[in-house]
Amino acid sequence: MNTLVNPLHPGLYIVATPIGNLGDLSPRAADILARADVIAVEDSRVTAGLLRHIGVKRHMTPYHDHNAEGVRPGLIARMATEAVALVSDAGTPLISDPGFKLVRDARAAGHLVVTIPGPCAAVAALTLAGLPTDRFLFAGFLPPKEKARADAIREIAALRATLVFYESGPRLAACLATLAAELGNRDAAVTREITKKFEEAVTGTLPTLAARYADAPPKGEIVIVVAPPGDAPPASDADADAALAEALTRLSTGQAASEVAKALGLDRKTLYARALALKA
Ligand code: SAM
Repeated sequence: MNTLVNPLHPGLYIVATPIGNLGDLSPRAADILARADVIAVEDSRVTAGLLRHIGVKRHMTPYHDHNAEGVRPGLIARMATEAVALVSDAGTPLISDPGFKLVRDARAAGHLVVTIPGPCAAVAALTLAGLPTDRFLFAGFLPPKEKARADAIREIAALRATLVFYESGPRLAACLATLAAELGNRDAAVTREITKKFEEAVTGTLPTLAARYADAPPKGEIVIVVAPPGDAPPASDADADAALAEALTRLSTGQAASEVAKALGLDRKTLYARALALKA
């Protein structure tokens, strides 16, 4: 137990940490980290940097996908008498990060569970995208394999909600290509490096974004935000050309025309002719 004058109540404290800019650590989060008896961390090197930044030295114990099953019972037992803080490498624990089973088991054991909310890339991306925010679905990471990715997108395609996906730079182009093929001409935003030096939000229709990133994988961390169905403007010739150019990098002329015709609701014959012209 730490011996500070004002110790925390025993239990579990879920602490959100910055997604880039260390200035985003809340005073309350810093206070909890300074007073916790132990901090469960994904990667102690990452959290050590954060603790150094706030001038705090606390005991850390690893809690991540590979050891969680073995480590969890010990952490739950400690919560009876100690304050256990949970952080992830960045952002809000449990959001595409470990933690939900720790919360579930802490509740089942009757321990106090407290959240210290803060940065979350999904919510930050929604604030940058300029797309409807009244209803949204956070869909996390899409599967890396194309067929599984297309199936996962089809499952949620009809939802009247803005869609939010996490993605990495090297996979962005493939992910946008599948989103364009399955969801058509919807507006979208690629938000990148949020709160960091090179923060940006690139907006456009899915086909134009797919074309833009087809041969230019960006660096850094990415969130894709896609508008709900029904708000999509009719596809322009430029949209069709961008989508065709991107599809032709992966498919034959006929297949590219079929894919873009389906995605954008356009005539396949016309697109086939445009594809031939583009190739020429
Ligand atoms: N728990 C975190 C949160 O609250 O956002 C997310 C953890 S998840 C393992 C990591 C993914 O979040 C990255 O691959 C990226 O998609 C997104 N992400 C995290 N930080 C980001 C940032 N600064 N800018 C854009 N996306 C970010």
